[in-house]
Amino acid sequence: MADRKYKINTNCVHGGYKAGPAEPQTPPIAQSTTFRYYDNQDVADWFNLDTFNCAYTRLGNPTVGYLEEKMALLEGGSAAVAASAGMSAMLITILALCEKGDNFVASQSVYGGTYNLFDHTFEKMGIECRFIDQDAPAEEIEKSIDDRTRAIFAESLGNPALTILDFEKFSKIAKKAQVPLVVDNTLASPVLCRPIEHGADIVIHSTTKYCDGHANCVGGMVIESGEFDWFATDKYPGMTQPDESYHGMIYGEKYKELKCAFSVKLRAQMLRDLGCAMSPMNAYLTWQGLQTLPLRMARHSENALKMAQFLSRHPKVDWVQYPGLKEDKYYELGQKYMPDGQSGVLSFGVKGGKEAGEKLLSALELTSIAVHVGDVRTCVLHPASSTHRQMTEEQQIEAGIKPELIRLSVGIEDIDDIIRDFEDGLAAI
Ligand SMILES: *Cc1c(COP(=O)(O)O)cnc(C)c1O
Repeated sequence: MADRKYKINTNCVHGGYKAGPAEPQTPPIAQSTTFRYYDNQDVADWFNLDTFNCAYTRLGNPTVGYLEEKMALLEGGSAAVAASAGMSAMLITILALCEKGDNFVASQSVYGGTYNLFDHTFEKMGIECRFIDQDAPAEEIEKSIDDRTRAIFAESLGNPALTILDFEKFSKIAKKAQVPLVVDNTLASPVLCRPIEHGADIVIHSTTKYCDGHANCVGGMVIESGEFDWFATDKYPGMTQPDESYHGMIYGEKYKELKCAFSVKLRAQMLRDLGCAMSPMNAYLTWQGLQTLPLRMARHSENALKMAQFLSRHPKVDWVQYPGLKEDKYYELGQKYMPDGQSGVLSFGVKGGKEAGEKLLSALELTSIAVHVGDVRTCVLHPASSTHRQMTEEQQIEAGIKPELIRLSVGIEDIDDIIRDFEDGLAAI
């Protein structure tokens, strides 16, 4: 296991797995559903959660474990649990924190898929999401919090709204309410922002995006800081009371010292019951991606800034939003929380609105139209007619999606080639 003495570039390469003598240099893919035992007591110990060995891949797998360890190191957390997708990472986190009748508070500018899960699917389960404007003053946001609130959720860098979270404000609100601050750090990646350093208690990733980075596989991750005090209130019986579905185990007690109580609950209860485990092959591919994450994030950020500058100068472009632009609303917060770069995603609108935008998309050659961000390849998408089309126009506007908005995920190709593609595309409209 990599040492905490190393810094993030080193941990991206070495963190989580170290070959022993004559062992493979890259993490072996444990493509096995199950693991053999010889002494029946060892199996009993595993079911008691007294050992962290593997027994069945739905609940843990060596290859997935290497990735979890690496992600925990990169985020500065104490433990991590992988899930089959970013969405399932979100699902298991909220289900582990909220009971029927509870609520949680979330920024209204979250990713479209997250919005649907929060607004509709959780509602069916009796868990209410209260959406707030993350730029509102703390007193305003606090009006949505009551004694049944169990979490505060926001994205460090909003997809595709490109909001940047005011961590100072949000961590204060969460501390005062004695609930965990849960931050989706997908778009920034741990290279550009580490939410735990800014007061987050739980960090979520869609590893599908920059962590994988090569459009290979869907995946999710939940990382805990290990610092949240579950016993400070009676809000988290799931952590502080015996789990009847696990012969009376009290997660918060048993794993307090190891600082992995929340992760054990996610694994032993949520992955067990919901089955949304990451596959070993996907863990391996994501691992491969993470090794070059710092190099890619630097190039993505550099290219995106140049692209944002190019587009803001172009006569056919109406507006550009990118937190790296000095005139951007989130420039200051970007410099504060993501000083090394503001990632590869920007949004813009062309003159002539939605129709002209759709024409532009079809005129691009190098750039792919793809439902994706964080890929090495440059991709574009029109959210109002795709990822956010289930929302009403009013909800879209609230979520920061104007009808003409084009989301551009700038890849790591030569910036001159990307710019030329857009010069040609804009000339065609
Ligand atoms: C893509 C994305 C998700 C969902 O992740 P999947 O891996 O697609 O399930 C969640 N949050 C953000 C910010 C995303 O970009």
